[in-house]
Amino acid sequence: MTGTVSIIGGGLAGCEAALQLAEQGYQVKLYEMRPDTQTEAHQGGYLAELVCSNSLKSTRLDTPAGLLKAELKMLGSFLLNLAEQCKVPAGHALAVDRELFAQSVSEVITTNPNIQLIRKELSEIPQGQVILATGPLTSEPMMQHLQSLLGEDHLFFFDAIAPIVDADSIDMNIVYAKARYDKGDPDYLNCPFDKDQYYRFVDALLEGEKYEVHEFENQFFKADKFSFYENCMPIEELARRGQDTLRHGVMRPMGLEIPTTGTKAFAVLQLRAENSSRTAFNLVGAQTMLRYPEQKRIFKLIPGLEHASFLRYGSIHRNAYLNAPQILNADLSLKVKPELWIAGQLCGVEGYVESIASGLLIARIISQRISQLPAETILGQLWRRLLETDSKSRFTPVNANFGLLPALKNPPRDKKIKKQLLSERSLAALSQYCAQEPEARNS
Ligand SMILES: Cc1cc2nc3c(=O)[nH]c(=O)nc-3n(C[C@H](O)[C@H](O)[C@H](O)COP(=O)(O)OP(=O)(O)OC[C@H]3O[C@@H](n4cnc5c(N)ncnc54)[C@H](O)[C@@H]3O)c2cc1C
Repeated sequence: MTGTVSIIGGGLAGCEAALQLAEQGYQVKLYEMRPDTQTEAHQGGYLAELVCSNSLKSTRLDTPAGLLKAELKMLGSFLLNLAEQCKVPAGHALAVDRELFAQSVSEVITTNPNIQLIRKELSEIPQGQVILATGPLTSEPMMQHLQSLLGEDHLFFFDAIAPIVDADSIDMNIVYAKARYDKGDPDYLNCPFDKDQYYRFVDALLEGEKYEVHEFENQFFKADKFSFYENCMPIEELARRGQDTLRHGVMRPMGLEIPTTGTKAFAVLQLRAENSSRTAFNLVGAQTMLRYPEQKRIFKLIPGLEHASFLRYGSIHRNAYLNAPQILNADLSLKVKPELWIAGQLCGVEGYVESIASGLLIARIISQRISQLPAETILGQLWRRLLETDSKSRFTPVNANFGLLPALKNPPRDKKIKKQLLSERSLAALSQYCAQEPEARNS
């Protein structure tokens, strides 16, 4: 049985859902408010724009991100397939040329005869079957509408993004290309610090003038709800945890010896290519709330970036999500409006690939191609986590992690082997499921 489904939001979740439903013969009305109305982080008019990192994380099966991608591949994710076609070298990570990726998704959507793309901001939910996939930067009128629909149940917080520098402005006499422990291609550039340079940088981060939370507040935001994703923590906040936190974490120098001398630097800040022509580089882990002039001053203390030209400064952004376990039915539709499904980051998953996964899942639920998933799979567990109610603690967004999976019966001691086994078990279970329920897989 097919019909018409309206999807609000042409981001990662909305586009995946649209393509999944269109493939099944549904008529899809996809509403996207850009380019006329922009969010605080999107910059263009293409669909499926990646707003921060260009990495869809690791492809290795001993990582949860790698497993989730393998599951999505088995189920026939359209966006993952397009991402693979737009990938740029990034070691084991699936990083994409963001412009090419967004352009490719836009083209596939606009040329699909079953999808009507409507460039319009919606401030209310239309009649009929609807997927709301307006993301963490859902426009304010829609947030207000949700508030009236759900009461005070929705939550919110902020997130930070890293600066990007022009490749031509990087001093390659200091910076060097190298993969950690020389494993794989030397896709990353490395900025080596000596002891003095490192502590000067940390001191500057600590003293740097930041944007204050209240400057980003609007009627929905209250400072007491201010928090970050742990893996998107501003660099100055990490530095605040201890003078050596950065060099033991995101700036650890292990396996990144300076090729010309063979010596180990005191700390290393890595740069990751933003596009396939490697004309722009992202400062890995340097997401920040520092004021723009302060960023210019402080990030130029990084060896090799003394003359850096900034293509984009880091910044903080609003990040909204709903209290999923309280408001969703088992099929991820709203309790108060069962013809409305919430997909993507707004429903409480966290991350690019998780958002794609949620779009796929909801489209499959609507087209009755999936009614449950094996408990051994990450996707099945992400679904379960959105429904799990723990009235004592506040619901926080969930990303792919091995902690979601049921324990192995006889876990090996070696952590890497354990993760590999968890992945193999998951993929075997999903493969068996797809064999039993062939409609779960794309034709
Ligand atoms: C600043 C920031 C940085 C992030 N960085 C990362 C990262 O580096 N890595 C990672 O894995 N995840 C990151 N995330 C989290 C998340 O994975 C992404 O936001 C992801 O794009 C979410 O996918 P989505 O489909 O839910 O929403 P989006 O991709 O944001 O798509 C939502 C779409 O809905 C549109 N829209 C909004 N309101 C309306 C309306 N009322 N009517 C019509 N259209 C509307 C928007 O214009 C947008 O195109 C970040 C989030 C933010 C906010």
